[in-house]
Amino acid sequence: LAKSSGKNRVVVYAEGMELAAQSKAELITDLDSAVAAGQLAVHYQPTVELAEGATTGYEALLRWQHPTRGLVPPLEFIPLAEESGAIVEIGRWVLTEATAQAARWSRGAGRPIDIAVNLSARQLIDDDVVATVRGTLAASGLPAAQLTLEVTESVLIEDVEAVVDSLRALRGLGVRIAIDDFGTGYSSLSYLRRLPADVVKIDRSFVQDLGSGGRSTTLVASIIELARSLDLEVVAEGVETEEQHAVLGRLACSHAQGYLFGRPRPAAAQAFPAQVEVAPAHPGPLLAVVP
Ligand code: C2E
Ligand code: MG
Ligand code: MG
Ligand code: MG
Repeated sequence: LAKSSGKNRVVVYAEGMELAAQSKAELITDLDSAVAAGQLAVHYQPTVELAEGATTGYEALLRWQHPTRGLVPPLEFIPLAEESGAIVEIGRWVLTEATAQAARWSRGAGRPIDIAVNLSARQLIDDDVVATVRGTLAASGLPAAQLTLEVTESVLIEDVEAVVDSLRALRGLGVRIAIDDFGTGYSSLSYLRRLPADVVKIDRSFVQDLGSGGRSTTLVASIIELARSLDLEVVAEGVETEEQHAVLGRLACSHAQGYLFGRPRPAAAQAFPAQVEVAPAHPGPLLAVVP
């Protein structure tokens, strides 16, 4: 590389491009076998209800432990999986894992634990998406009302009619639809009109600036008000500080997510209420048999 760069910069650039293209092709090939090889994992991030501070559910976030590259972040491999179509199979796997986990948690807690799963446009235009969701709900025993499917405004770059039809059919099953990263699209208000939705998730970029004196507080207040008047639930994403938390409380935001409340972690690492609630219910035998 050093040798050729001495002669001609264009060559270096071309070689760099080739490498990037090669590594992309390799990743796409590796992704095809990632599910079967057990390299994918689902991490779970809590969603809290701000008034009570209680965890009402979790969002499923996909992780890929690549055998040689280490942990590949979703923002790097999901676009590749969308391009290759692998996202359809991967997405089914995530739905199966996440609904089964939420059903287990709900049984353990003795109350409904909700689960949110992100869906790509490619999954929504797949003919089988409704059957897939219906099937995973049936297999897990999770009530449909406990499943939220998160989509970004980017799903509308695909066949809009097919996407909207799928979303309506999915809602017909009783699952909820959330518009993720709300406010970052070019035309968020018109998407709100076109997409059937139950939940709006305010993008982290707005939440980050809360309390800093800029316009974000007014914008977030307006989104919350808009959601309320459209009868939509609202979730603030990416809450990291007590100050952001306090502002959201003052704005009467109903739900939030963020590192302040909990990072995405494997299911087994969740400090889950079921363990705390169950333990004190059984006094040890020594306490019970006092003569
Ligand atoms: P998203 O659905 O908007 O998920 C929120 C992202 O913000 C997650 O990144 C999460 O780890 C991160 N996050 C949460 N709280 C905080 C915080 O307080 N501060 C900061 N800085 N970040 C926070 P992650 O896990 O890297 O996922 C990135 C995106 O990848 C997701 O954005 C979603 O669009 C996509 N994705 C993840 N899992 C799946 C999946 O199973 N299927 C599909 N289609 N997309 C997925
Ligand atoms: Mg999401
Ligand atoms: Mg989001
Ligand atoms: Mg996001």
